[in-house]
Amino acid sequence: MDTDNTRSLTIIGAGLAGALLATLMARAGWRVDVFEKRGDPRVKGYEGGRSINLALAERGRHALRIADADDAVMRQAVMMRGRMVHSLDGRQQLQRYGRDDSEVIWSIHRGDLNITLLDLAEQAGAALHFHRRLDGVDFDTNVARFTDERDGGTHDVPFVALVGADGAGSSLRAAMRARQDLGERTEFLDHSYKELEIPPADDGGFIMEPNALHIWPRGHYMCIALPNDERTFTVTLFLPNEGDPSFASVRNGAEALALFRRDFPDAVPLIPELEQDWERNPTGLLATLYLDRWHVGDQAVLLGDAAHAMVPFHGQGMNCAFEDCVSLARHLQATPDLAAAFAAFEAERKPNALAIQEMALENYVEMRDKVDDSGFLLQRELELALQQRHPARFVPHYTMVSFMRIPYALARQRSEVQRGLLVEHTRGIDDLAGIDWDAVDADVLARLPMLEDGAG
Ligand SMILES: Cc1cc2nc3c(=O)[nH]c(=O)nc-3n(C[C@H](O)[C@H](O)[C@H](O)COP(=O)(O)OP(=O)(O)OC[C@H]3O[C@@H](n4cnc5c(N)ncnc54)[C@H](O)[C@@H]3O)c2cc1C
Repeated sequence: MDTDNTRSLTIIGAGLAGALLATLMARAGWRVDVFEKRGDPRVKGYEGGRSINLALAERGRHALRIADADDAVMRQAVMMRGRMVHSLDGRQQLQRYGRDDSEVIWSIHRGDLNITLLDLAEQAGAALHFHRRLDGVDFDTNVARFTDERDGGTHDVPFVALVGADGAGSSLRAAMRARQDLGERTEFLDHSYKELEIPPADDGGFIMEPNALHIWPRGHYMCIALPNDERTFTVTLFLPNEGDPSFASVRNGAEALALFRRDFPDAVPLIPELEQDWERNPTGLLATLYLDRWHVGDQAVLLGDAAHAMVPFHGQGMNCAFEDCVSLARHLQATPDLAAAFAAFEAERKPNALAIQEMALENYVEMRDKVDDSGFLLQRELELALQQRHPARFVPHYTMVSFMRIPYALARQRSEVQRGLLVEHTRGIDDLAGIDWDAVDADVLARLPMLEDGAG
């Protein structure tokens, strides 16, 4: 490999972020090599691993548009207008995410998305190397060592700079940590998840409302279901690790079926292979990864889950990873000094990653415990009313995160102010008729400056 050219990147991981960054940088004329531990999903089918489908929101779509990937991806996407909340008695209620169909999120298939991005990366000129698992890095000689898991063969590859897009269990991060303290901390959530499948109806169509993210909130735990374009739904059950019910108390398919019959009865007839799915599919762990440093000089930088894995409850991990790619590409184009570009990228993205990590943790409580609570619903009504009264100042939390591209940290800070207002002004009342509008309006004007979506 020609390592004289400084406009050269070696990306570890051809997952979502790795493939998108490869496309962006190859288009900008960089020499890009991508090393992926798995086989080529276009040859042998997608090996998946976890979360079959994902919610794509505006931040992710914007990045896809920059890479000219949006059209191809959106052809397979299913619109989700809001949350379809399933009560224990089987009632369903749609809570819209935004004002109309311009404010929606999209369910996309992880494997299809990955394949689309890999094709684009290759067309842009990136060289993709499959069956290459990063195993170690010699930072003194700038050589990375890869293993082919099929035969155990090792391959030493010189590099100019490494980008770690190798996910939450990043091997590059481990190699960087051995070189320099990254201040790494992983906080496991005391809840895990299991995926199950709802097949199409007998007529081949969707068996429930397709244009929604279905939620069965049950206090300390919940189920969700996202539509797939082949007319199925992927159900994810989130449950504590200990207690009752939990992954400790529900130990097999039969016990899972009993739990569903008790707590999610309307879902039982929709999941014909519930017991088999339970036994077949792994239980996934959930964690938040915090790092003080994302880069080592001009030699290596981390992005996406490798830098800031988060719990999935805001549906933003991939969206945030895609924003990272656009940001890193911009900083790399702005200066020939790699160390400066990595540092500027880290300074821009780290506070924002932290903000969405925290909002994702908070959103779990909202999804599993609040969405069917009358106090929460009244606050939501007030939120929508204030958005109409003060469209440039009071922008609902979900809108700032999912339909805008303002920095996550700003969204979080404004959300906290807004939540305070909503709680204060709905205290002791049952409906909007009891609101003291003069007092709320004065508070909004005093505490929420005009908001511009500076990101464009
Ligand atoms: C249950 C669940 C639901 C989720 N739902 C959503 C959602 O709705 N919306 C959303 O935006 N995000 C969601 N996420 C988060 C999203 O999946 C991640 O944020 C996203 O996949 C991060 O992309 P990445 O490219 O950084 O990492 P990954 O997608 O994990 O890709 C890493 C790649 O690196 C490869 N790799 C790993 N180790 C090595 C190695 N040593 N050498 C070479 N290659 C290696 C892997 O094989 C993989 O291809 C969800 C996550 C989970 C767990």
